[in-house]
Amino acid sequence: MSIAQNVARIRSEMERAAREAGRDPGTIQLCAATKMNDAAAVREAIRAGVDCCGENRVQELTKKQSEDAYRGVPVHFIGHLQTNKVRQVVGKVDLIQSVDSLRLLEAIDREAARQGIRQDILLEINIGQEASKTGFREEEIFPLVEKMGSFPNVCMRGLMAIPPICQESGGNLKFFQKMFHFYVDIRAKKYDNVKVDCLSMGMSEDYPDAIRCGSTMIRVGTAIFGARDYAKLHQV
Ligand SMILES: *Cc1c(COP(=O)(O)O)cnc(C)c1O
Repeated sequence: MSIAQNVARIRSEMERAAREAGRDPGTIQLCAATKMNDAAAVREAIRAGVDCCGENRVQELTKKQSEDAYRGVPVHFIGHLQTNKVRQVVGKVDLIQSVDSLRLLEAIDREAARQGIRQDILLEINIGQEASKTGFREEEIFPLVEKMGSFPNVCMRGLMAIPPICQESGGNLKFFQKMFHFYVDIRAKKYDNVKVDCLSMGMSEDYPDAIRCGSTMIRVGTAIFGARDYAKLHQV
C-alpha cells in the first residue's frame, strides 16, 4: 500500500468513526507522526492530505526542517523534550504537544519571552499513571490550568495523551473518556493564557475509539508510513 492509499483509508475510517459518534469529521485533524521517516516520505504524506506533521526528536526535526520537508502544513513537536533543547524547538514549531513537566513549561515560557513570541502548547497527561511515562498526573491538571496566567509567553491549546499499550480492542476507551471529560471541563471555564480547542489522542491502533470519545487530533505513524525500521534509527 502506498502512503496516499494509507492516508485515504485512514480518512475514511476517521469519517466513519466520527459519523458513528454524531460528530462532524471536519473537526478532527490527522497529524502524521513522522519519526524515522525521511523527507521524501513526509512530503508524500503531505501531498496525500495530512493536516500536520508531528516530530519526536529534536535532531530529526532540525534535519527535516533544513530539507524543507514540512512545507505546506504546520509542524508539531510530540516527543519528550529536554529543557536544554527548548531553543531548538520554541518558535520553530506551531505547537508543542508534549509539555510534560512544570520545569519544561517554565523553560518554554522563558525561551518564548526571549524570542518575543507566544508559543502554543498542549499539556501531556499521563492518563494511565504509568511509571515509565512522563506527563502530568490527573490531579495536577486543574491547579496547573489555574496557574497558566503566570506563563504569559505560552498559550495552552489543550491536552495530549498516550494511553498504555493495550492488547484487547477497546481497552483504551476508559482513558479516552477520562481525557475528554478533562477537556470539556477546562473548556467550560475561562482561564488566562488558555484557549483550548485541541484534544490530541489516538494512534494507529486505536484512533477510531479515540474519535468516538471526542479526540480532535489523532497522531498516526505506522498506519501511514508502515512499520518503522529501527535499524535505521541512527541514520535519520
Ligand atoms: C510514534 C508516535 C505516534 C504514532 O504511533 P503509531 O502507533 O505508529 O501510529 C503518536 N504519538 C506519539 C507521541 C508518537 O511518538
